[in-house]
Amino acid sequence: MQTQEKRTYQAVIGLEFHVHLATRTKMFCGCRVAYGDEPNTHTCPVCLGHPGALPFTNEKAVELGVMAGLALNCEVASRAVFARKNYFYPDLPKGYQISQFDAPICTGGYLDVPVPEGTVRVGITRVHLEEDAAKNVHVGESGRMHGSVGSLVDFNRGGTPLIEIVTEPDIPSPEAARATANHLKAILQAIGVSEADMEKGQLRCDANVSIRKPDGSFGIKTELKNMNSFRYVERGLTRELERQQGILEEGGRVTQATVHYDPVADEVHELRSKEEAHDYRYFPEPDLLPLELTAAWVQEIKSRLPELPEERKARFIKQYGLSEYDAGVLTADAELAGFYEKVAAEADPKQAANWTTGELQALLNEAGIGIPESKVEPGHLTELIRLVEKGTVSRSAAKDVLGFVFETGDAPSAVVEREGLASMGGDELSGTVDEVIVANPAEAGRVRDGDKKVIGFLVGQVMKATRGGADGGRVRQLLMEKLDGQ
Ligand code: ADP
Ligand code: ZN
Ligand code: MG
Repeated sequence: MQTQEKRTYQAVIGLEFHVHLATRTKMFCGCRVAYGDEPNTHTCPVCLGHPGALPFTNEKAVELGVMAGLALNCEVASRAVFARKNYFYPDLPKGYQISQFDAPICTGGYLDVPVPEGTVRVGITRVHLEEDAAKNVHVGESGRMHGSVGSLVDFNRGGTPLIEIVTEPDIPSPEAARATANHLKAILQAIGVSEADMEKGQLRCDANVSIRKPDGSFGIKTELKNMNSFRYVERGLTRELERQQGILEEGGRVTQATVHYDPVADEVHELRSKEEAHDYRYFPEPDLLPLELTAAWVQEIKSRLPELPEERKARFIKQYGLSEYDAGVLTADAELAGFYEKVAAEADPKQAANWTTGELQALLNEAGIGIPESKVEPGHLTELIRLVEKGTVSRSAAKDVLGFVFETGDAPSAVVEREGLASMGGDELSGTVDEVIVANPAEAGRVRDGDKKVIGFLVGQVMKATRGGADGGRVRQLLMEKLDGQ
């Protein structure tokens, strides 16, 4: 990758994730968690912060938080304490957020992230429970505060159960940061802790980044806030590292600041300098009891943990005979893995992996969508693989077929028919092979004399004559038979 070659410094990156938990109700009240509903229809005195209203802890949220911690190889605390994080903002009616500070539910875990060079072990500093703030809606054309005519607050989101996951500054590159985020998302989805749908704001990521000094010590970090796509995490970090390197090369100093990444301009802008740290005046939440997490309960949750991506990967290698790489790509995305298993149940598992990680993945990437948004169903791929096996379509034509299926959602056989993509076969192909033999007597003669290398040339001529509409293997076989070059 071009940007990678240009890098001469060592990046230091730590990520912070905010993840909505898949509970039916909010963190400290019975209001429903809902997305896209009429604003302010899921509120009560607790999540509106009315004086005197008392919170109570959602047990399911605690359970999901523990599940996430276990999946990230964390130590689960036997006692965890909620704390008030005080700050003033209109989306926070109480004037504080209930979070956890010095006694979080989980600490000291790690995540082994697959990267092209192998794996990077990223330390997990902590996982803690908290509530989300409400949503500010800025009225005006821009949709942002700047230039708006007024701001509204939708309290439906206020009080949504969250976990914050903080990594150690162990991540060595923007590419690895994206891989870490992807891997984490796959784990959270696999264990059902969160839908982790970034479009719904269920998963948000902040990235801290600095450049390591020549003596190995850490430099001053900046923070890229609230990125809602992992592609932007990678690109924003790349731009920010370039900015920091520029400052250092000119003999300047990086200032601790929040940085905004503008994906349209592909630029970073320093927002506010963070010289004076916030003083959140944390103190234990007096209205909630500390959480007592018994070893027996934690053990029981552990015993119910579903298959993790790493375990699934190991199973894919064993059960389907896949390469380490293919198994890794497939299991990095829970949706993709599920799709693959449906295809592999009905078709050759290796072919299924080739098509899923190759052509299908390329189409998804190009369209910027995931499997759930795609029109391609597992049955489509199964059918396509069968059509190639039977020789009904050549492999190269099958790629075109998949392109049409991707666009229309039509069945492969219908596409083959409609677009005339069937391989030339039978008498027609046999006739073309005969013509090529007649037209190339010298080469045909050499094959007859046992010079098999020349057959490639003749195959090429047939493929040209059929405009790629024949199966290469079948053509070679026909030539062999006719020239008896065995
Ligand atoms: P803060 O007090 O600014 O919140 P923390 O020590 O809590 O800083 O760390 C927040 C995040 O920043 C963590 O993900 C951590 O890994 C990361 N981080 C800490 N120091 C650095 C650094 N020098 N460069 C990059 N990331 C860092
Ligand atoms: Zn409520
Ligand atoms: Mg911090």
